[in-house]
Amino acid sequence: MKTTSKQFKYFKSRCHHWAKELGLVGWRLYIKHAELDDAYASYDANYDGKVVTIKFTKNLSLGNPVLDDDQIDRTAYHELFHVKLFELEVTIKYRYDYLHESVEHDIINTIEQLVFNGHRYK
Ligand SMILES: [Zn+2]
Repeated sequence: MKTTSKQFKYFKSRCHHWAKELGLVGWRLYIKHAELDDAYASYDANYDGKVVTIKFTKNLSLGNPVLDDDQIDRTAYHELFHVKLFELEVTIKYRYDYLHESVEHDIINTIEQLVFNGHRYK
């Protein structure tokens, strides 16, 4: 299965929405429709240049054959929240690097539940 250009367009618009909502001013966003193996999206940020490239998957795996608008919105939110935490990441990364990714995902997923479901647990 492939994602459509319509879905990519929606993803792009949600990325810009979340960048604004999360107060990500001064960042240049490049958003690409790309081949990704095991994720709906990925990001790659450059701290010095304040440039971030976000990729939205072209291909969907057999385990995840569909991607609806709500999931696309959440995916955009997820990647932009990584960017939001990126400045913090740059400053703390080297102290507890082995814990860093799970702590970051806990923050993102906690706030995601609040934003999209209005409460902490489903
Ligand atoms: Zn993530």
